[in-house]
Amino acid sequence: MRRPTTDTFRHQGLRKKLIKLLEEKGITDALVLGAMERVPRHFFLDRGFEEIAYEDRAFPIEAEQTISHPFTVAFQTQLLQLKKWSRVLEVGTGSAYQAAVLAEMGARVFTVERQRTLYDQVLQFQWLSKKYPMIEFFYGDGYAGQPKFAPFDRILVTAGAPQVPEGLIPQLKIGGILVVPVGEGAAQRMHRIVRLSETETQQEVFGEFQFVPMLKGKN
Ligand code: SAH
Repeated sequence: MRRPTTDTFRHQGLRKKLIKLLEEKGITDALVLGAMERVPRHFFLDRGFEEIAYEDRAFPIEAEQTISHPFTVAFQTQLLQLKKWSRVLEVGTGSAYQAAVLAEMGARVFTVERQRTLYDQVLQFQWLSKKYPMIEFFYGDGYAGQPKFAPFDRILVTAGAPQVPEGLIPQLKIGGILVVPVGEGAAQRMHRIVRLSETETQQEVFGEFQFVPMLKGKN
């Protein structure tokens, strides 16, 4: 992959426009909008997408996966209600754009990807590791979480799970939040699950989104 390496005034202007669009679409969290205004999304894509990187669209990355729509990234991140220094587990590193947005907001990020190609690619992305040393990358099956680094304040799943991945809930702190798109087929409904106690959770369901499937095992 050939990545762009310069962030020009033009890119910054396009980002400003995108942020306005996200606000019009209902995103209100200034911390989320601020972080997305600072992270150069075009760096996470091949040069071929440089001109269109700030449209509210998903784009293909390697291994038949996609970088999520900016609106989806903003919506999921807003639901997380991050605090500075939150420990966040992300399932589905993909391009690592979402991980960068979380890190930009001051989170400590543990992100896991099941596609070897994507994991290898992200390790070679030098700008990213220099800019965000607080992101740790793992190759593995996100259904297993990252027990060695648990418990987490937040868990964010960026692939569509057929059901709520219950196995992740014990890796949340009490009071912690899991955001996960749930559903098989063409569309998923966004779920936010708060771990109230050792045994209780509270669940809210939001609108429909489209995700690549959360699959078992590694590839
Ligand atoms: N957060 C990403 C979006 C990637 S799309 C970004 O910002 O670009 C979803 C990703 O989840 C894909 O890369 C897919 O390979 C990955 N994925 C699917 N099932 C997974 C699992 N069980 N464990 C880890 N990653 C998974």
